[in-house]
Amino acid sequence: MASLSGFTGSSISSEWAGLSWKQFIPIQKPTISVSKNSSKARSNASSSSVKMAISVEKRLILQKSEEVFNAAKDLMPGGVNSPVRAFKSVGGQPIVFDKVKGSRAWDVDGNEYIDYVGSWGPAIIGHADDKVNAALIETLQKGTSFGAPCVLENTLAEMVIAAVPSIEMVRFVNSGTEACMGCVRLARAFTGREKLVKFEGCYHGHADPFLVKAGSGVATLGLPDSPGVPKAATFPTLTAPYNDFDAVKQLFEANKGDIATVILEPVVGNSGFIAPKREFLDGLRKLTEEHGTLLIFDEVMTGFRIAYGGAQEYFGMKPDLTTLGKIIGGGLPVGAYGGRRDIMEMVAPAGPMYQAGTLSGNPLAMTAGIHTLKRLQEHGTYEYLDKITGELVKGLLEVGRKAGHALCGGHISGMFGFFFTEGPVYSFGDAKKSDTAKFARFHRGMLEEGVYLAPSQYEAGFTSLAHSLEDIQSTISAAEKVFRSI
Ligand SMILES: *Cc1c(COP(=O)(O)O)cnc(C)c1O
Repeated sequence: MASLSGFTGSSISSEWAGLSWKQFIPIQKPTISVSKNSSKARSNASSSSVKMAISVEKRLILQKSEEVFNAAKDLMPGGVNSPVRAFKSVGGQPIVFDKVKGSRAWDVDGNEYIDYVGSWGPAIIGHADDKVNAALIETLQKGTSFGAPCVLENTLAEMVIAAVPSIEMVRFVNSGTEACMGCVRLARAFTGREKLVKFEGCYHGHADPFLVKAGSGVATLGLPDSPGVPKAATFPTLTAPYNDFDAVKQLFEANKGDIATVILEPVVGNSGFIAPKREFLDGLRKLTEEHGTLLIFDEVMTGFRIAYGGAQEYFGMKPDLTTLGKIIGGGLPVGAYGGRRDIMEMVAPAGPMYQAGTLSGNPLAMTAGIHTLKRLQEHGTYEYLDKITGELVKGLLEVGRKAGHALCGGHISGMFGFFFTEGPVYSFGDAKKSDTAKFARFHRGMLEEGVYLAPSQYEAGFTSLAHSLEDIQSTISAAEKVFRSI
């Protein structure tokens, strides 16, 4: 989410990574008319005198969404608890959800959407899975929170350790932000160094050291990207463009013996979908080893998403530390960090690096995680995700190009993205060439067709085991129509 997504609650993430807060200028609201006296969610445009800017056949009635969101704006900053949700980067009325199931989401006006956000990743087996729900109800009966050790923590820890190649010990927290924050503190504690290298367009949660404007100069020291972040917090943050190994080498030359950690999204989802170059990943692994620097894979998004063992299994490599979140909570709030035993034993109370959490290891969250992972262990799950997601991206690019648009895109397993530019896109700099105004029109058009995409060009999309081939086909047909109209 957010590189540009970041600004949503969970997301300063996607939207935000690499962008200054000042750049979040809402796009003008597309022409969507709300019919106050229709109780039907959708009605035919032909039945009214509305001149639609986008879709010609259907109109989306968003009356209740509008009412709820207007009330929310008075209650919560921007009407949301995570910035991207407010639709600032695509404009128009945000959709207020009522319920979700399988591949579908329904809004408060009763409109149904095929959902490609999946709660920003966690819903990989489909929303509100029956088995997960049943397990949650069983756990619920024993209480919602213990604040004491419970067996479920062991179970999920064993599953995570067995799955993720580099993880020998794990600590559960409550969000991806917390995981990244704790993990960097640990890397600093272990190495006795302070500097960290992050990449432009990568989002690692909203903790101070990560909110750094990625400067144009590769060797520039970080400056805070949000008011309220002290310069001292980001001074040790160095940034380089994604997929630019030479830039990282230069940072290491200029900061010999000072770099505690390199943290990256091993496949980027927070500036849109960007795959790493093999040489880039291999180069980082070798360079960090040579310099006694810890390599952190932030797999909050990619963990259990692009393969059961995450990006590290997919690419066959071992970082020193790994952060997780999203999927391992199965839709409840969870994060985790883990890695080599000798490093993890520095974490309190085994060691001196302090990090704690009142609700960490919460039995409900552990339960949802356990049963989500169990489903993912079934035969052929990742092959299925790869197949439907590949079809989706291939279809979207085909119909989009046929309609005359410059487009590029890609996917790995159930994670995908596309940009309104020729490409190729290897970095956030490349991603910014995308025609975001066109994306906003596309996004609104797809909503009208009953397809819910992430409300930002700079967010990855997600499929789930509940998405059928028919879902994919009807999404491509909807896109064909919308591409012709924008
Ligand atoms: C979502 C995300 C985070 C932040 O996780 P939250 O649970 O939103 O705090 C961190 N890193 C990556 C790669 C993410 O995608």
